[in-house]
Amino acid sequence: MKNILGIELSKLEEEMVALGQKKYRATQLFIWLYEKNVYNFDEMSDISLSFRETLKELYSIDLPKIHTKQEASDGTIKLLLEMSDGAKVETVLMRYDYGNALCVSSQVGCNMGCAFCASGLLKKQRDLSSGEMIGELIVMNQLLKKENTKISHIVVMGTGEPFDNYDNVLDFVKICNNPKGFEIGARHITVSTCGIPEGIRKYANEGLQVNLAISLHAPNDQIRNTLMPISKAFHMDELMDAIRYYEKVANRRVTFEYIMLKDINDSIACAKELKNLLKGLTSYVNLIPYNEVSSLEYKRSPKENVRAFADYLKNNGVNVTVRKEFGKDIDAACGQLRAKVNK
Ligand code: SF4
Repeated sequence: MKNILGIELSKLEEEMVALGQKKYRATQLFIWLYEKNVYNFDEMSDISLSFRETLKELYSIDLPKIHTKQEASDGTIKLLLEMSDGAKVETVLMRYDYGNALCVSSQVGCNMGCAFCASGLLKKQRDLSSGEMIGELIVMNQLLKKENTKISHIVVMGTGEPFDNYDNVLDFVKICNNPKGFEIGARHITVSTCGIPEGIRKYANEGLQVNLAISLHAPNDQIRNTLMPISKAFHMDELMDAIRYYEKVANRRVTFEYIMLKDINDSIACAKELKNLLKGLTSYVNLIPYNEVSSLEYKRSPKENVRAFADYLKNNGVNVTVRKEFGKDIDAACGQLRAKVNK
């Protein structure tokens, strides 16, 4: 049976019309599922009894189960969710002053093989469907209901490369943003890619106002090649061309994510190269303190290196922030909990 969660509104309208219904049936279903949080067709009282039976024959409403829950002293919640086939993915709630952000996984494992990443230690098993990503959001919202709050921001930055699962991620984003869906503003949604130029161009052409983040992590091909295998397939020139295209077509600035790794990419010489690389772009840089992974050799940059790096960029006209740290007393690195459970 097909999971009705995650079917984007225009597609659900087509499916309803094919079943001899009016288009607005899809909107009604959206309201029940995403506004009223009802996950049982029997309770959808403005839909006729006979059509509810049809819906039950054709569709399921599948939500993931919580396999493991970790809660940190700062309120960060990390869930390991189990999908209907037993596949497990992580999803993380981060609490900011401005709201609750959910870091969503887009694949089970990841094939991109970034050298510093715990998620990349487990190869991709499969893509997540848009319904499974919606499931990550619904399960976290169910937990937050006790606090009378909900997810206000989405970052597709968990395990997986979103542009390697493009169509499902896009449907997920559209449902999050839809006023009849979760009604999360486009500016509150960020998709983060490790840098696939074709995906960046395609995304630019979608006409969405959703944010784009690029996992850059190095100011040149030489360092990036040692950290991110994708860099060997798509060199910096090609990546920066795609980003310039995005800025022009989408008229949005991108965020560059830069994990600060001790003695690898955290020198002032690197900051200088980064400044030169970003010349002419309206982008900004988000420096990320590294969460060490016990089986990997990389170390986090000392605070003073991060500060000096940030100051250099700031003093040279580059917008820069240092990311707040979350969940220090739980398995903070992305993919770490799943790797531990799989072991
Ligand atoms: S950093 Fe992201 S793209 Fe790279 S291996 Fe980890 S999950 Fe995949």
